[in-house]
Amino acid sequence: MTVGIENLTVSYQRHPAVHHVSGRFLEGECTAIFGPNGAGKSTLLKTMMGSLTPDAGRVVLEGYQRKDIAYLPQQAEIDRSLPVSVLDLVATGLWHETGVFGKVGRNGQARALQALEQVGLADFAPRSISALSSGQFQRVLFARILVQDARLILLDEPFNAVDAKTTYDLLELVRLWHDEGRTVIAVLHDYEQVRAYFPQTLLLAREVVAWGKTEEVLTDVHLKRAVETAAHWHERAPVCQADGVVA
Ligand code: ADP
Ligand code: MG
Repeated sequence: MTVGIENLTVSYQRHPAVHHVSGRFLEGECTAIFGPNGAGKSTLLKTMMGSLTPDAGRVVLEGYQRKDIAYLPQQAEIDRSLPVSVLDLVATGLWHETGVFGKVGRNGQARALQALEQVGLADFAPRSISALSSGQFQRVLFARILVQDARLILLDEPFNAVDAKTTYDLLELVRLWHDEGRTVIAVLHDYEQVRAYFPQTLLLAREVVAWGKTEEVLTDVHLKRAVETAAHWHERAPVCQADGVVA
């Protein structure tokens, strides 16, 4: 099972956010995506999820079905005003078994509760999701991934606005997933977190700056190049032609 990225270009109003990106995420690898703001990190994850359509190139999910993939968007993109309980939200991780409008049985509820226990929030099961702190909410979303039993886990800045203790606990879950042979791909901004938990790194600045072993990717030379590349295309605001060439 691999995720192949083949000469991928994805644009908004013809401005490419991801430009000619190629590479592979192998099964069981834990990869951090690192790069400046606006580098196309979220765009790449959304395209892997199938919620954005490439202008050119493609994402090839070899051996994965839709149900094997869990995706956690940046917190700002999640609507928390829904009148949904913590337990119900976690149980939606079972959608591939119950169907989108299906009923979660007693077994499903028990599994959701067990996942909440694993993230330290069992007592919160009946509460409304709108009453949670950002850290607690992130724990709930990780519990949902536990319930889904996903093989490929995509996390977009999972620790933004999350307290240190929660970050540590959730990083330990990432380590557990890695030990279980799951594939984890996470957009992160913290070097120490990347170095400690993610053996692979993709350094992205709209294009691939470097992709491979974390210690070989996160060098001063590569980081400088990432910042320069980002600054360069912000100034020029390139428009992508139909064939993917920047004008
Ligand atoms: P990152 O996650 O690395 O910060 P994004 O993938 O969110 O970067 O964005 C990459 C570029 O695409 C940025 O220049 C951003 O302004 C632009 N962009 C992102 N989403 C949209 C959108 N919905 N409409 C127009 N432009 C967008
Ligand atoms: Mg982003």
